[in-house]
Amino acid sequence: MAKSILIDVNRCTGCWTCSMTCKTAHNLQTDEFHMFIRTIGGGGIDQAGGRWPDVYMKWNPVYTQACLTCTGDDSTCETPYCVYNCPSGALYYGDLDDPQSEAAQRLEKRRAEGFRMWQQPPWEKTRDNVFYVEKGI
Ligand code: SF4
Ligand code: SF4
Repeated sequence: MAKSILIDVNRCTGCWTCSMTCKTAHNLQTDEFHMFIRTIGGGGIDQAGGRWPDVYMKWNPVYTQACLTCTGDDSTCETPYCVYNCPSGALYYGDLDDPQSEAAQRLEKRRAEGFRMWQQPPWEKTRDNVFYVEKGI
């Protein structure tokens, strides 16, 4: 399998470091994004859904087709800039068919813990080979 990005949704804090790192590394314009963070909640960025006290909010990093599927450089140990700079351990990169890869090992661990794996639906037209693991939502 081609190298994939695995997103451990429950670890994402919605900080946008991944997206900002990509913009910096690739000299993107202010309104240009290769990936962005979608808030699952009340409709706006960092807006909670529901009604107090039953409120909820979580985040989904979304990779657009503009993503260059880059592999970073020497400074990131050939890991995509977005993955390397995530401070929460929410992003993994590697061949999911290679049991030695960090991505495959994280996927196996999470599956054993009852996480489900999903992908964005085709109509989102997002980057290929991006998988989400998630539990309890
Ligand atoms: S893989 Fe590279 S181009 Fe794609 S979002 Fe991450 S840093 Fe940007
Ligand atoms: S994936 Fe990591 S860097 Fe990106 S928003 Fe989530 S916690 Fe922040």
